[in-house]
Formats: sequence, C-alpha cells, structure tokens
Amino acid sequence: MKYDKEKYKIWNWKNPVILHWIINPGLVINELIFGQTIPKVMLIEREGKKPFYQRSLIPCPHCGTMHSGLKWSMKNKTAFKNWFGYYCDNCKEIIPVQRNLTALIILTVTFPIWGWFRKILKQNWLDKQPDRYKNINLEIPEKKNSTKNWLKSGLFFGIFMFVSVVIIYPLIKGSEITSKSILIGIPLWLICGLVWGYTNKILMNKKGKENKDHNNV
Ligand SMILES: [Zn+2]
Repeated sequence: MKYDKEKYKIWNWKNPVILHWIINPGLVINELIFGQTIPKVMLIEREGKKPFYQRSLIPCPHCGTMHSGLKWSMKNKTAFKNWFGYYCDNCKEIIPVQRNLTALIILTVTFPIWGWFRKILKQNWLDKQPDRYKNINLEIPEKKNSTKNWLKSGLFFGIFMFVSVVIIYPLIKGSEITSKSILIGIPLWLICGLVWGYTNKILMNKKGKENKDHNNV
C-alpha cells in the first residue's frame, strides 16, 4: 500500500521504536506469553494540535481502513493476546505485525511442535476476536496525575524487564543467575524503566506541526 508521505510520517522497521521491538531479546516474553505486538506499519499525522497518541494510525492493508492507534490499548483490553496480529474489526482480516527477532527464532525452532496445532489455534483465536472489539473506546485518556503515571509505568516496565532479562531469561537458557547480574541489573533496569516512562510521556503528548497555510489565512 502507498501512503501519503506529505500527510503522514511513516513508521516501519527503520523507526527506532519498531527496531527496538525487533532486537530487544527481553521482549520475547511480551510477544510470546502476553501476545503484545507492534504493527509493521504505523502512520503518524504530521499536522494537528492533537497529542501523539491521537495522531497515530494503524492502516489495514486488506481493506484500507485507517484505525486509530488507540484501538489497541490497555484501556480497551486489546493491548495483549494479539498473538496472530492485530485483528481488523472492519474486514475481519489480520493486520501484519512486526515480530521480535528472538521470538521469530523460537517460533521457527519449535515449529515442528506447535505447527500441528497452528490452524486450530489460529481459528480459535479468530473466533474470539469480534467480541473483543465490540466496545472500543477511542476517547482521550485522562491527563490527571500524568507525573505519577509515567513514574508508575516506567517503574513497572523496569521491574518487568529486570525480572524477564535477569531472572526468567537465564532460567530458560539454563545459565546461572549471579549476584553480580542482579546488582548490575537493578540500577540498570531502574534507569532504563524511568527513561522509557519519561520518553513515552514526552512522545505521547507531542503535538504535530501546525499547518502554516492555515495560520496565514
Ligand atoms: Zn481491514
């Protein structure tokens, strides 16, 4: 699909957010266990005073619908369980998502095991989708306590990544969890979490460019 580059900033694998999704091995947990994912293509409206999350669109390559990025959110309970991709509630097709590299490797290696059930699993998943999109709310999330919110989400992310990378990942790999890795891991993921929370806050509230022609009228 071709998109209007004048109107939209196009996010694909070259964008740092999506690239991070591909290369960070810790995100394998988010993707395979929680079914959290990121679309292959996102469009960001260049102009407009709306904050970032209201300018981000997820296009469906099958029917051309421009879905609001807010459709898949915690609030709508659609942020997780998207193992097969983002379900398009307009044409019932699946919007392609970007796989995490580690998840892709694990899926490829274990394909002989789960491959047998792929069709059944996918059909079961598809059957459940229409219900999940019945009461989608695209209202602006509340801005109250925004400082508390970024701190909370940053800390949560830090703790989550710490547990995933320092504890669960070595357990899966069968390697040792050392006190050194814990001592380094705590401050490291605490800082990463807070940076992540704060960057998200800035990014989410960033306004688009103002339309100059419009202002001159
Ligand atoms: Zn569609």
